Amino acid sequence: MTIQPVGLYLHLPFCEKKCSYCDFPSYAGRLHQREAYTQTLCGEIRQRARETGKLPVDTVFLGGGTPSLMKPAQLEQILGTVFDCFDVQTDAEITSEGNPGTLTRDYLDMAKNMGVNRLSLGAQSAHEGELQTLGRIHTWAQVEEAVKLARAAGFDNLNIDLMSALPGQDWKALKASLEKALALQPAHMSVYSLILEEGTPFYDLHQAGQLPLPEDEVERELYWNTAELLEKHGFHRYEISNYCKSGFECCHNLNTWRYHDYLGFGLSAAGLYRGVRQKNVNGLDEYLNGEAPQMEALTAADQRFEQAMLALRLREGLSLEAFEKRQGIGVFDLWGDILHRHIKDGLLVLAGDALVLTSRGFDLMDRLLLDIFP
Ligand code: SF4
Repeated sequence: MTIQPVGLYLHLPFCEKKCSYCDFPSYAGRLHQREAYTQTLCGEIRQRARETGKLPVDTVFLGGGTPSLMKPAQLEQILGTVFDCFDVQTDAEITSEGNPGTLTRDYLDMAKNMGVNRLSLGAQSAHEGELQTLGRIHTWAQVEEAVKLARAAGFDNLNIDLMSALPGQDWKALKASLEKALALQPAHMSVYSLILEEGTPFYDLHQAGQLPLPEDEVERELYWNTAELLEKHGFHRYEISNYCKSGFECCHNLNTWRYHDYLGFGLSAAGLYRGVRQKNVNGLDEYLNGEAPQMEALTAADQRFEQAMLALRLREGLSLEAFEKRQGIGVFDLWGDILHRHIKDGLLVLAGDALVLTSRGFDLMDRLLLDIFP
C-alpha cells in the first residue's frame, strides 16, 4: 500500500516584541531560550518519528513566532533532524516565515542551504503609521530590503502578508499597500482581515472605544476590492484570504484545507494523523519541561465536519468524491436538505464534482457554516 505523504508544521515561538493585535503563541524577551527550545523540538521530532516511522513528507512549514529569529545553526539542526527522521521528497515545498525586521543574509543562506524554497514575509502594511499602530518592529523600507535580500539569496517563491480592516483604514489606504506589495513582484499574497482577540492590547483599546475599526460593510468592500485588484494583477484567490500567481499556491496550507494528514511540532502545534488530533501544550515553560501533547481520536462526525468546513474555505470547494472516499458517506446523504436550501438561495453552487460557496456565500460564511453544522 502506498503511504500518503504528510505535511510537517514546526512552530518557532520567539519574537522581538509582541504586536498589538497578536494572540499567537509567541514570546518576546525569551531569546535566551532558543537553544533549549531547539533541543526540545528536535527531541520531539525524533520521538514522533519513532512512533510513525519514516513517513514521506511533501511539505514543511516553519511558522511562528518569528522563525527568522532562530540562529542559522539552530535552523540547520532543526531541518537536519527533519531530514534524518522523515523521507522529505526531493520536490517538497519547504517554507519559512520571516519578519522583515529580523531577516538576515546568514539566516537566508542557511535556509536556502537546508532546502527552504519558499519564504513568507509578514509585511502587514506599507504605511508607517499603520505599522506603528500594529506594533510591528519594521518599516516598509525594511520590507523592500528583505525582499531584495531574499532574492539575492536565491528565493523566487515569495509570499507577502498584508492586513486589511485596520483601524481607520479605507480603500485608498489599503490599495496603496497592495500596490506597493505588488511592485515587489511576490508569487503569493495573503491578505487577512484584522480579528480582535481577547487579551491583546487592541482588544482592550476597542473595549475602551479607542480603536476605530471599519464597519462590517466597509470591511466587505475592502475584501472584494482587494480580490478584484489582485485578480487584475494575475493573482487568483484560491482561499478566502490567499492569492497567488498560477502554480504558486501554498501547498502546505492547501493540503491542510484539503484535510490531508500533517504532524505539528513545537509549543501549541497541532497535527492530524490517521484520525487522531494531536495538540501540544501552549506554554513555553511547559513545553520545555516536556509536558505531553493531548491526543484525541476524532469521531466520525468531527472528521466529516472538519473536512467539509475546511474545504469550503477554498475556491475549488468541497470535492464530493474526496469527501465520500475519506468519510465513507456522501455529503448529500448527510446534509442534503440544508445544502439544497442554500443552493436554492444562491449561497452554494454545485460546480462539477464540487460544492462551492458563491460570493454571497463567502460573505455569509460564518452564519452558513453554523447553519449546516450546528
Ligand atoms: S511577529 Fe507575528 S507572532 Fe510575533 S508578535 Fe507579531 S504577529 Fe505575533
